[in-house]
Amino acid sequence: MSRTLVLNRSFRAVAVADWRRAVTLVYAGLAEALDAELVGYDFSAWVAASSSWVRAPGGFVRSTRLRFAVPEVIRLTRYDRVPRRDVAFTRHNVFARDRHRCAYCGRRQPPDALDLDHVVPRSRGGPHDWTNVVASCRPCNLRKADRLPDEADMPLKARPEKPRWSLLGSLIPHPQMDIPDSWRRLLVAEA
Ligand SMILES: [Zn+2]
Repeated sequence: MSRTLVLNRSFRAVAVADWRRAVTLVYAGLAEALDAELVGYDFSAWVAASSSWVRAPGGFVRSTRLRFAVPEVIRLTRYDRVPRRDVAFTRHNVFARDRHRCAYCGRRQPPDALDLDHVVPRSRGGPHDWTNVVASCRPCNLRKADRLPDEADMPLKARPEKPRWSLLGSLIPHPQMDIPDSWRRLLVAEA
C-alpha cells in the first residue's frame, strides 16, 4: 500500500515511512497528519476530518469502527533531528546515482547491460569508490579499456560524486516509483 512522507518539526523532509508506521506515530501523538494545505491534525481530528472524504490519494484505513485516510504527509511534533545515513557504495546504487545512463555515451540501459567502470583504471591506482566509479555500457567499457577518459577521447558526461543521503536516496530501490504530487514541492525544498 502507500507510503508517507515524514517531516520534522521544522517541515523538513526526513524520511519515508510505511503507512502503518506513519499512522502509528500519529496515533501515539508523536506526529500530526498534514492535509494538502499542510494544516496539522492529531489522530482524532484526522479521523473526524478524513472519514467523510470520498477519495484519498493514499487510500483509506478501515476497521469495523473507523475509516480514515492514510496521511500522505506527517510532521513529527517532537523531533528535529535529521537522520544522516551514508548511501551504501554498491553496484545498484551507482547505477541509480547515474540514472542508469552510461557515463560516456549517455545512453540509458537496463542494469544487466551496464558495467561499473573505473574512470582512473584500478591498474593505474584508481580507487574503488564513489568518485572514481561510474555506470558504463558494455561497448564504452570495452572501448575505454585501461585508459584515462582523455587518452580514450571519451569525456565523462558528469563528474562522479558521492551522493548525499536524501529522501530520494531512500527511494533508490524504486527508481520508477511514482512520487505523489503532495511530496513534490516538499522534495524540491530539500534539493
Ligand atoms: Zn556508453
